[in-house]
Amino acid sequence: MRHGGGEVGTVAVQLPDVPRVALGEYPTPLEYAVRLSRLLGGPDIYIKRDDTGALGLGGNKLRKLEYLLGDALAQRADAVITCGAGQSNHARLTAAAARKLGLQPYLVLRGTGTEEAQGNLLLDRLLGAEIVWTPDATPADLMEAARQLAISLRREGRRPYVIPYGGSGPLGVLAYVRAAYELAEQARARGLTFDAIITSSSSGATQAGLALGRWLTGMPGRVWGMSADLGQEVLTEQVAQLAAQATDLLGCGPLPHDEIVVFDRYVGEGYGQITDACREAILTLARTEGIFLDPVYTGKAMAGLMDLIDYGTLRPGQSVVFFHTGGVPALFANAAGVLGEAAAP
Ligand SMILES: *Cc1c(COP(=O)(O)O)cnc(C)c1O
Repeated sequence: MRHGGGEVGTVAVQLPDVPRVALGEYPTPLEYAVRLSRLLGGPDIYIKRDDTGALGLGGNKLRKLEYLLGDALAQRADAVITCGAGQSNHARLTAAAARKLGLQPYLVLRGTGTEEAQGNLLLDRLLGAEIVWTPDATPADLMEAARQLAISLRREGRRPYVIPYGGSGPLGVLAYVRAAYELAEQARARGLTFDAIITSSSSGATQAGLALGRWLTGMPGRVWGMSADLGQEVLTEQVAQLAAQATDLLGCGPLPHDEIVVFDRYVGEGYGQITDACREAILTLARTEGIFLDPVYTGKAMAGLMDLIDYGTLRPGQSVVFFHTGGVPALFANAAGVLGEAAAP
């Protein structure tokens, strides 16, 4: 059953009235990738440019931070703590947004602290974020370290706000429900319908929000999450839990389980380990559209899209949207991996 039963693409469930600060420029562009579509010979491919955004070089975490830092300001925080991988885009954007709002950024990062200041880490340093290094940590370990840091800062009389790993909590999901509404409005205005909405997926809020928003608008085309690290079952469960937290906030019924579609076959050896198909996808998009993908998330998601065209799952006559979630600074920390043999002088 469709909520509201109105015109496809109309908003049936209002977003809850919770604090939000403006950090990005929305709506982000929805661009038809004409040369890429022609080269691949499959569906018409549209790219939703969530990689654009003036603040901190942009990316999907900016949408989540609008709600998360709105909440932090409402709680009168004076510092923000978050955590992530050494090359975390989320950490970089949290630090940039914190600076813009006059909050002190603290980052708990996986690594030894001996890593070269390149890519996101270079930007974290320019932003003057306080970095706490944690070797070999899982996301849960990193979150625990972030909570411990919050306790010690509170003892010093500070008011830290802790943002979950990847910004993935109910507020992060809400931000991507909003993004789905935004896409539905763009599609409606341009008379477009989509057979699939493709996004990179890792901590899960982007996919959960898009899936929930798509379902609520009745816009056609399931959301397909291309995992950057987790196996299909684990990520599906994580997305389901996040969606459930957000339906509480939205006051709508539960997201049907079959709305969550996860592919884990483009991960390769693991998080941040580049694959040949990822490298190929990065080069292909750069050389057809002049758009850069990243080696950790969007390169693998685009490799998935290209594979599904090769396989005939996505066909000529169809239309798909590829969410470009950002991450480009990580290219600069992976030159040899991205260029492969071509990196040799
Ligand atoms: C974090 C991130 C993702 C994944 O988003 P989640 O909400 O964590 O699943 C995808 N692409 C880029 C570039 C990211 O930084």
